[in-house]
Amino acid sequence: APDAALLRVEALEVVYGGAVRALVGADLTVREGEVVALVGANGAGKTTLLRALSNLLPAMRGQVSAGRVTYAGLDVARTRTDVLVRSGLVGVLEGRHCFGGLSVEENLIAGGLGRGSSRADLRTDLDRVYALFPRLAAKRGNPAGLLSGGEQQMAAIGRALMGRPRLLILDEPSMGLAPKVVEDIYRILVGLNRDQGLTLLVAEQNVRLALRHAHRAVVLENGRSVLSGRAAELRERDDVKASYLGAA
Ligand code: ATP
Repeated sequence: APDAALLRVEALEVVYGGAVRALVGADLTVREGEVVALVGANGAGKTTLLRALSNLLPAMRGQVSAGRVTYAGLDVARTRTDVLVRSGLVGVLEGRHCFGGLSVEENLIAGGLGRGSSRADLRTDLDRVYALFPRLAAKRGNPAGLLSGGEQQMAAIGRALMGRPRLLILDEPSMGLAPKVVEDIYRILVGLNRDQGLTLLVAEQNVRLALRHAHRAVVLENGRSVLSGRAAELRERDDVKASYLGAA
């Protein structure tokens, strides 16, 4: 069968500042239409892996020292970030990075301009985002800096959707948010996958949450992928329960 992988990370190693070995052997495959969770403790290397996917390591004094990342047939390390974005590789990376002084709508529009959307495209895409996140519609004219944490996460996701992603990458969308808000956000993300076939890669420290929503998961430990499989199967494994799901 033809290789249906949209994203493939193979034996990836990353070093920061020539000294800190943040990834020492990361492997990950995401197929079109999947929701894949990248889980692991604080410092395991999740953020580093996501940076490598978007070719953002050089800005952090990081570099790929071995292995490779392929997205839609492109060798990521040899492809400019703007080209990756136009090919549908869109990330909601660390923190939410809304432009606090700009309005919610201006933040959303920034996501569409990044991919070169026309005025008509922008209008269509804004309407879609507002339909998904009615709270953003209600606050479209407000400065993004005055939104709650959950609303800022929604704005960051909305801005990414304005880039018409084929693969949407999220770094800890649950971080610092109330459980109810986290559920709302995951429900919307999973809905986008189910209804529109949007492929998702989500880094998540909360393993229980990730295994509940993803089709497959990859576990990173000390810069290495140590375990991967279907989320439904991982959830039932005693070693996974003991190491990652706690007693409850
Ligand atoms: P977190 O949940 O804290 O984001 P993580 O799993 O995403 O954790 P990374 O942020 O990728 O982990 O960090 C992996 C390792 O690389 C850590 O030891 C971290 O201290 C180190 N590291 C991350 N960024 C840099 C950097 N810019 N320079 C040097 N070391 C870094």
